[in-house]
Amino acid sequence: MAHVEQVADKTYRVQAQLPGLPTIFSLYFIQGDPGALIEPGPAGLVPTIQDAMNQLAMSDLKYIIPTHIHLDHGGACGTLVQLFPRAEVLVHPQGARHIIDPSRLVRSTAMAFGDDFEEIYGTILPVPESRVKVVPDGERLSVAGRELTIIHTPGHAPHHMAIFDPETEGLFCGEALGLVYSDGAKALPAVAPPGFDEEEYLSSMERLRQLRPRLLFYAHGSVSTEPEQSIDSVIASTRVVGEAILDTARTEATEEAVIKSIGEFIRQRFGATLTEYDLASNVRGYLHYYKKKGLL
Ligand SMILES: [Zn+2]
Repeated sequence: MAHVEQVADKTYRVQAQLPGLPTIFSLYFIQGDPGALIEPGPAGLVPTIQDAMNQLAMSDLKYIIPTHIHLDHGGACGTLVQLFPRAEVLVHPQGARHIIDPSRLVRSTAMAFGDDFEEIYGTILPVPESRVKVVPDGERLSVAGRELTIIHTPGHAPHHMAIFDPETEGLFCGEALGLVYSDGAKALPAVAPPGFDEEEYLSSMERLRQLRPRLLFYAHGSVSTEPEQSIDSVIASTRVVGEAILDTARTEATEEAVIKSIGEFIRQRFGATLTEYDLASNVRGYLHYYKKKGLL
């Protein structure tokens, strides 16, 4: 049974896992009928979503809002629109065509998560164009008595966005403010190839700081009740990790050696241990970006 926790007024979180995976998915609900689901996660979590909605007495969704279209955030959208025929999927302009026709998304997902990813995560189904609502930066949306604001936050990926609820001053930041990789640790950058852009990532963080949120609802993990400190520290660590990767890549011969050395660096400097997947994804994301910029 899904463990539904209240994290703010009318705001609920479910921490879910899939069999055989270390990843924790954080799904958030704005309670209402219809209500909203922020970060649906992969399709394998659809039964968890239905269970949580039953517990919250929600029979319908008005909006399904992945912070970005990567499998582990938006993979369930195509399945959910079949189950909730009035729901709309909100998406950044740069992500829209890839959820309407997911062929490229499926290919890049197979590269990142392995050819058999659908067996573990569930299938990525297309979302019909009529069910996709492309949201510009600053868009306000009414749902369940709330006025949510969409903020475009490119950096982790060009199609990333965050959702602010002025009523609770809660910010659903996805991966725009990094991730808390181990309990009690500070947030560290959340980086993945090929869409990562360090400059954009840092300027999105500054923009989110200006909202003066009171709560940060991260993807894959915790809630921060000290946003100012959390944002300052992830801005610093994004720079520090980037510099370490750039320096290491200039001396180490292979990508594997860089990954190993950066894993050690992060453990010593920040007291955090990343999974093999997260560590490799971070290093490859930075390396791809620095090569694109001509720094390597
Ligand atoms: Zn992502």
